[in-house]
Amino acid sequence: MRVVSLIAFLFLIISCSVSRNPLREQIKALQKGAIKDDTSFVYQLPFEPGKKRFVVQGYFGAFSHKERAALDFKMKKGTKVLAAREGVVIRLREDGDKGGLKKEYRQFGNFVIIQHADSSRSGYWHLQQNGVVVNVGDTVKQGQWIGISGNTGYTAFPHLHFIVWKSVPGSQWQQVPTRFQTQKGVRYLRAWKWYKRNNSTETKTK
Ligand SMILES: [Zn+2]
Repeated sequence: MRVVSLIAFLFLIISCSVSRNPLREQIKALQKGAIKDDTSFVYQLPFEPGKKRFVVQGYFGAFSHKERAALDFKMKKGTKVLAAREGVVIRLREDGDKGGLKKEYRQFGNFVIIQHADSSRSGYWHLQQNGVVVNVGDTVKQGQWIGISGNTGYTAFPHLHFIVWKSVPGSQWQQVPTRFQTQKGVRYLRAWKWYKRNNSTETKTK
């Protein structure tokens, strides 16, 4: 847990720089339940059933998510990463062999991108070298093993960076906040909290 307290300290130092992206306020309202959302897709936590993981950085986190609606799950290297939603693998990289807190390491981050039926895409980043177990063109089910977590790319410690985005006609790609099935129900995840996956694989809505 020493790494976690170090990161907490870093957050305190730089927490004055906050994103002005309007999505940030929208996500806060979703997390609090101030905006009701009964219709969006329910994602599965991207790790094995019965396991719990710590969200070390959440949406628009001041460390490296200033403009990103992304989640960082703390994960030891070598942890199985599972698909949060079914889809088709459209891009991947697994030959990156460097990682650390230098921007020039960003290009070495290994990843898998899965396209979903509604044309949105999910990305899973920082996988270990040769740590992708699916191929481009594969159809993957929700909960299918897709990769092995690592620490490649621009990263302070081993974790999984998860992000969803979609294309909007006449506009750029837009980031999508996602709700997850957790043991305590369906939640928009927050930083600094543990989230546990149910032992069973079925997805309940409440
Ligand atoms: Zn991240």
